[in-house]
Amino acid sequence: MSDQNIKPNEFVGFDEPIYANLGMKPEIVAYGTEDERLWIELEPNVWFRPLSFDMTTGSHCELLRVRRGGVLTRHRHPSPVHGYVIKGKWRYLEHSWEATAGSYVFEPPGEVHTLTVDDDDEMITFFYIGGAVLYMDDDDNVTHIEDNIGLIQLCREHFEKVGLGADFVQNFIR
Ligand code: FE
Repeated sequence: MSDQNIKPNEFVGFDEPIYANLGMKPEIVAYGTEDERLWIELEPNVWFRPLSFDMTTGSHCELLRVRRGGVLTRHRHPSPVHGYVIKGKWRYLEHSWEATAGSYVFEPPGEVHTLTVDDDDEMITFFYIGGAVLYMDDDDNVTHIEDNIGLIQLCREHFEKVGLGADFVQNFIR
């Protein structure tokens, strides 16, 4: 397993697992940081910061950051999503409500939405995403499937480009 090459560093901490001999993986502590290199641009004014990729379940955790005017393309979640708004506020074009700082959001499998930030300078939300994300066009055709494999490849390219090295993403993989 490639995470054997990863040592605790300024961005991520972990200890040896208690039951490593039984296949237990080390925990991940992804520290709070202002380092801009950890944010990966998905679309104009939309970034994500990877926190963990679970290669057994296919789920992942991330911070999503959207600045004013940013729109995350319409997509469907076949798996559950949990979110907690850390900063700012945002809404879905398909829903009546607004998620404000301190709000928890649960999205059941089948949820289709388009996330946008209208007037706040910036929102940051923690998301647990239970599986792949299906991006769709206006006719509900799936145009792009985003799973952990694709996200990790995206991270590898980004971290290489910003000088952290492609393998930096291994810090977040279990
Ligand atoms: Fe979503």
